[in-house]
Amino acid sequence: MAEKRDYYEVLGVSRSASADEIKKAYRKLAMKWHPDKNQGDAAAEEKFKELGEAYDVLSNEDKRAAYDRYGHQAFSGPGGGGGGGGFHDPMDLFREVFGGAFGGGFEDMFGGGGGRRKSAKQRGSDLRYDLELTLEEAARGVEKELQIERYVSCESCHSTGSKSGSGTKKCHTCGGRGVVARQAGIFVQQMECPTCHGTGELISDPCDACHGEGRVQKETRVKIRIPAGVDTGTRLRSTGHGDAGLRGGPSGDLYVFVVIKRHEMFERDGDDLLCEVPISFVTAALGGEAKVPTLDGQASIKVPPGTQGDTTFRLKEKGMPRLQSGRRGDLHVTLQVEVPTKLNAEQQEKLRAFGESIGESNKPMEEGFFQKAKRFFEL
Ligand SMILES: [Zn+2]
Ligand SMILES: [Zn+2]
Repeated sequence: MAEKRDYYEVLGVSRSASADEIKKAYRKLAMKWHPDKNQGDAAAEEKFKELGEAYDVLSNEDKRAAYDRYGHQAFSGPGGGGGGGGFHDPMDLFREVFGGAFGGGFEDMFGGGGGRRKSAKQRGSDLRYDLELTLEEAARGVEKELQIERYVSCESCHSTGSKSGSGTKKCHTCGGRGVVARQAGIFVQQMECPTCHGTGELISDPCDACHGEGRVQKETRVKIRIPAGVDTGTRLRSTGHGDAGLRGGPSGDLYVFVVIKRHEMFERDGDDLLCEVPISFVTAALGGEAKVPTLDGQASIKVPPGTQGDTTFRLKEKGMPRLQSGRRGDLHVTLQVEVPTKLNAEQQEKLRAFGESIGESNKPMEEGFFQKAKRFFEL
């Protein structure tokens, strides 16, 4: 077995180095000798291990004191460090030291070496389409044809991205690793290779139509069936109608977000519809019929004599259909009693005479109101 190197020498610090200096030295060297950066280099792996051991000892006050006194002997005997096995795993140590600085994602720094390259076949993006519908369309359900600009498979190269089908070659910028290194202070930063976009390979003879992407942008039409009962906020998915993937990768999905336009007659409240209908004050007093609009056409309600304003009638199952169920909500009709605004002299006279004839009695709301007011003032 080779002679063990002095731990201070391994880290390149003096025997009086502070804890901070030791850590700094470790960080710098650990980046240099990390196995992900030195694929298959056994010597580098050995250095990385040696470095971990040195740091393990010198970063711990007790272990460092023992080492200063007894040297490597301190950890080799029985009851000592357990002979090598007593040291922390160098990878664990690395994660511990670097974990904080890189939010735990330290593998990203090295782009995973060769094994974690991005695949050239990438799934296309999901797309969003905001679709405005009338209340009637939402009530009945409708089929719509949407016009969408999106990526579709390139027909010239059958999505391969290659003109003649001669395939791919290693990216010359990153040597096939998909990442390139950049020195930033003491750190080596790894970023996605701009030439191959992280895939590590390039098309030997890119297709002219798609420049090697295997997909082209195109104005397309997508048919979608809108089920009855959708509301603002309903999200429908049209599988595979998002962007086509890169070089034959799977397509994304299209998400249709429904927005219901305001209706001039009906207000929607979940599955129910609300509607206000005016009636004359004569009809309100004498009773009669009120014509009411519904989504299925005109209906009528019987207005009983003496109906007050703001009375609400419910028309069962004349509301909106419930999504994915045969049920329907109700229609709530609120009557508004209309007071005539333009009366001629004769009409005014008749109304005055009518007022006198009923006197102070027969005013159900007024009576109730004045009784309450009287109690309020007596308090
Ligand atoms: Zn093409
Ligand atoms: Zn590259």
